[in-house]
Amino acid sequence: MRFASLGSGSKGNALIVDAGETKVLLDCGFSTRAATTRLARLGAAPADLNAIVVTHEHADHVGGVFAFARRHQLTVYLTHGTHAMAARGQTCLPECRLIDGHTPFAIGALEVQPFPVPHDAREPVQYAFSDGRHRLGVLTDSGCITPHIVEVLRACDALVLECNHDQALLAASRYPPALKQRIAGRFGHLENDQAATLLRQVDTQRLQHLVAAHLSQENNRPELAVRALASVLDCSDNWIGVADQEGGFGWRQLI
Ligand SMILES: [Zn+2]
Ligand SMILES: [Zn+2]
Repeated sequence: MRFASLGSGSKGNALIVDAGETKVLLDCGFSTRAATTRLARLGAAPADLNAIVVTHEHADHVGGVFAFARRHQLTVYLTHGTHAMAARGQTCLPECRLIDGHTPFAIGALEVQPFPVPHDAREPVQYAFSDGRHRLGVLTDSGCITPHIVEVLRACDALVLECNHDQALLAASRYPPALKQRIAGRFGHLENDQAATLLRQVDTQRLQHLVAAHLSQENNRPELAVRALASVLDCSDNWIGVADQEGGFGWRQLI
């Protein structure tokens, strides 16, 4: 199994998980054209994909999903709440499968485990993916860490973790107070130290890859996110990856 990012941050997110015959896109916050260009950068094409799984209805995650899925006849997996919100005003939907936020399901060779997260959306989930040998956990857009999140991510071979902001940078930023409160609140986004706290609570013995994701371009800096995570693992800073808004990150292989 391997995975890569097409881009990560408040302007758009998409991640591809590749288990050989099965390739799944996680969210698509990019236009069909931009997503296709970004896939090509990774040596992949829309025709290679089997399905799209969606975390929640915010535009940076679902903005491009329906158009892309319709165009390439892909099935979209999402919760009832996400569907209700994202489908509003849409006249022509692709094939959608409603999932339960607590029940794993299979897409080809991949087992996909959704898990609910506290975020200001209708029924948001995040996902862990397994091909039977390795397990990739992805967590973005979570206002805080719950015992259930820790349980699901407890022994992954790879983790993509939200490091949205640095507390001090957010506090000092030009953002209006209400927006600061939303971001830092229990239904907003994880800051660097919260991601580090989560990492401290999970078993990292099997960890082959750790990538910081969904970084705020205004209220974070890659080196701060990396430092927070590296201090938990006691590893060198350059072992930790950072998902970039424009470049995402290249393929990371699990062996
Ligand atoms: Zn987001
Ligand atoms: Zn969100």
